[in-house]
Amino acid sequence: MSNMQKTDVLVIGCGIAGGTVALKLADKGIPVTVVTRTNEPVESNTYYAQGGVVYKGEKDTPEKLAQDIMKAGADHSDLKAVNILANEGPELVEEFLIKRIGVSFDKLANGHFSFAKEGGHTEPRIIHVADATGVAIEDELVDSLASHPNINLLKGMTAIDFIKNKDKCLGGIFLDQKTEKTIQIFAKKTILATGGFSSIYLHTANPAGARGDGLAMAERAGIKVKDLEYVQFHPTVFHMIPESRFLISEAVRGAGARIVKADGTTVMDYYDKERKDMATRDVVARCIYEEIEKHNLEHLYLDLYSYIPKKTILERFPNIYKTCLNCGVDITKELVPVIPAAHYACGGVVADEWGRTSLENLYALGEVACTGVQGANRLASTSLLEGMVFANRTQQDILENPGNNVEIVELEDIEISKKYLPLAMISRYMKKIKSIMWHHVGIIRTIKELKMAVEELEEMSKELDYYYTEFELTDDLIGLRNACTTGVMVTKAALANEQSLGCHCRRD
Ligand SMILES: Cc1cc2nc3c(=O)[nH]c(=O)nc-3n(C[C@H](O)[C@H](O)[C@H](O)COP(=O)(O)OP(=O)(O)OC[C@H]3O[C@@H](n4cnc5c(N)ncnc54)[C@H](O)[C@@H]3O)c2cc1C
Repeated sequence: MSNMQKTDVLVIGCGIAGGTVALKLADKGIPVTVVTRTNEPVESNTYYAQGGVVYKGEKDTPEKLAQDIMKAGADHSDLKAVNILANEGPELVEEFLIKRIGVSFDKLANGHFSFAKEGGHTEPRIIHVADATGVAIEDELVDSLASHPNINLLKGMTAIDFIKNKDKCLGGIFLDQKTEKTIQIFAKKTILATGGFSSIYLHTANPAGARGDGLAMAERAGIKVKDLEYVQFHPTVFHMIPESRFLISEAVRGAGARIVKADGTTVMDYYDKERKDMATRDVVARCIYEEIEKHNLEHLYLDLYSYIPKKTILERFPNIYKTCLNCGVDITKELVPVIPAAHYACGGVVADEWGRTSLENLYALGEVACTGVQGANRLASTSLLEGMVFANRTQQDILENPGNNVEIVELEDIEISKKYLPLAMISRYMKKIKSIMWHHVGIIRTIKELKMAVEELEEMSKELDYYYTEFELTDDLIGLRNACTTGVMVTKAALANEQSLGCHCRRD
């Protein structure tokens, strides 16, 4: 492979956001190059989505959905973006997910969708494929990308930075993990769809790849970002595995499960009398955290078996059942130990209603972007929809403004040293970042801890910059440096905002 390529549209990432925009453009005859850092292109946050996608419930309206999003987002969401999502989302689910890529969402015996309800929703409106909706979507999406004649899908290539010419994006520089060489891809339009950053936290529901690569690239390129302090913590992550990554979907509470103490007494009645376990995630996560701290516990529990019939548990949550059973917990008979864990980035690279960023010819989509929909706290099961809706709009914008020629500039070759930074050292640094983020930039934040975190992360950042220039570039080293940069960005945002709102809670 030459170390220089060109394409009309370059898409970085192939989760729901990157995959949707790539496929839609390719269907219209546009040549697209899609790059993903993993060798298994399905690996992404999208793949792990459990609960489902917001659609249109039987008594639902776009206005009701918009109201729920605004309320969950603590009125910090951008109403224009929210209305776009609420009005354009359901039709796209049908047109793209169901008809174009062929996802078969669960239906009841009467042929109607099996609608679920999650925290903060006033209507059952979430459609799903059992409790593994992401697998069903991402498998179909990647199959469609891989077999499309207009798509060049490149795996095992890590985006390092954007190529910029003054205020324009010309493409990106990538590390080919196999050859260990860098390649430059020039494009008329570049789309950043690298997902979130919640795996920079010790306890997280995200896979290891969610390390903030796109956000750190944006920072180095001077692109506008916002709302980074609003990190959503999911209330219920399985606590049997240390540094657990397995989420127990909110849909189990939608089906009736309750958060309880070891003796089975419920917790949320005390904290939110009206909504109880169906309060929004920021509220539930904070309550669990406070309960754990107050009584010096390791975790609380989810009780499914007292509230949901065994048959329903097995039919509706087969994946959760199997995973917990493999760790020795039978959810049809036993309480499930849970803790809150970092889950979703509400903020990100500022993107307008067409996905456009502050850098010309660069778009941002999905979890890396901040369209304004998610405000200070995301409403459950809206992010797959958000990725898709704005991907569709970006596609329209590119079709209307395809750009002229691919502009190519001479870049100096990146010097690659032959010394490898030992993996043990990379992992030691990563653990340190995760620990700082969890303990000092977590669910409850104080000025003292945030200042300490900035200091430590900035110090580490200097050390990592040195390793970055002196040692062989690897995907791990790139990710470590990005995780640290992202940690600094999130912590500074949390420090700068003294007002508690949604998932940002200051107790100074
Ligand atoms: C356990 C779990 C359950 C969830 N459940 C739901 C749910 O039920 N409903 C819902 O709406 N949302 C859910 N979410 C949130 C939702 O899955 C994500 O917000 C959404 O999938 C993000 O999509 P994305 O396309 O932006 O990013 P991702 O799906 O994360 O895709 C990112 C892509 O970028 C690539 N990439 C990253 N860095 C680089 C780099 N440096 N170079 C090249 N490629 C790179 C990745 O390999 C991947 O292809 C859940 C999330 C998790 C983790």
